[in-house]
Amino acid sequence: MHYAERPLIGISSCLLGQKVRYDGTAKRDRWVVERLGKYVEYQPICPEMAIGLGTPRPPVRLVAAAGGTRVLGVEDPTVDVTEALESFALNTASQLAGISGYVFMSKSPSCGMERVKLYTAGGQAEKRGVGAYARVLMDSLPNLPCEEEGRLNDPVLRENFVNRVFAYRRWQTLRASGLSAKTLIDFHARHKYMLMAHSQAAYQRLGRLLSHLKGADLDQVADAYEAEFMAALKRRVGRKRHVNALQHIQGYLREHIDGGDKQELADSIEAYRREEVPLVLPMKLLRHYFRRHPDNYIDRQWYLDPYPESLGLRNAI
Ligand code: SF4
Repeated sequence: MHYAERPLIGISSCLLGQKVRYDGTAKRDRWVVERLGKYVEYQPICPEMAIGLGTPRPPVRLVAAAGGTRVLGVEDPTVDVTEALESFALNTASQLAGISGYVFMSKSPSCGMERVKLYTAGGQAEKRGVGAYARVLMDSLPNLPCEEEGRLNDPVLRENFVNRVFAYRRWQTLRASGLSAKTLIDFHARHKYMLMAHSQAAYQRLGRLLSHLKGADLDQVADAYEAEFMAALKRRVGRKRHVNALQHIQGYLREHIDGGDKQELADSIEAYRREEVPLVLPMKLLRHYFRRHPDNYIDRQWYLDPYPESLGLRNAI
């Protein structure tokens, strides 16, 4: 499968190396820029610059107030940029409906996704805030794959995020090309093993959603499908679930490979289960056998080739 089209991803500008932070510095993230950047297009956004704060600028922070969280100046608490950030986020969300993911800068009172310092009136901080811009953007685009640069250092979260970005892109392409019962059912069929690895229950629920399409409002069905599909892919996949999916796929080779090859494949899946080898090894072996013994159904499964392999994400999980 080819990945000629690069998904568009929103990103906090400072992560790309732009010197837009309050102190005039950047926070370039090497993996995001040099690795992921080869396969996606970035749409850099600095909400604090966009609302006219300039750089360098006096810092702001999240403060818990009676009517909700505010974004106030650290040195001058009469500076309140909450509404400006929120309305910029609403505006951005409506303009960026075509993006397939977002990478936020962590800990920022504007861009942080979680565990941002939230100050009380007494000046104590608790790590339980969400950046004002990030919160409104995520609420407005609830199915959008979002992550922070810090969390992307975790190989499982990294793989999960990239998988969601490419899956969401495929879904957006499907919707843009016009919905039909046939294309919806085909999309679901091609994601069978990916979904089963994430959640068998979600795979079945999604299947039921598509089981009565005659006369149905396809846009309504697609909205419900999208929400459940993206929520399912967000779930972390443990080794046991990957093993289960690999063994199911292995079953399609039963008639085609001999005892020695079967044993080699089973050993490779078992070694993965025992955490001796990464996921890429049994995957590679499976793909090798399916190249020799093509199977129309398995060849179309996105689970075997969900994003550019050269990202190397399955080498680390
Ligand atoms: S964290 Fe967000 S607001 Fe702060 S400099 Fe980076 S892009 Fe701008």
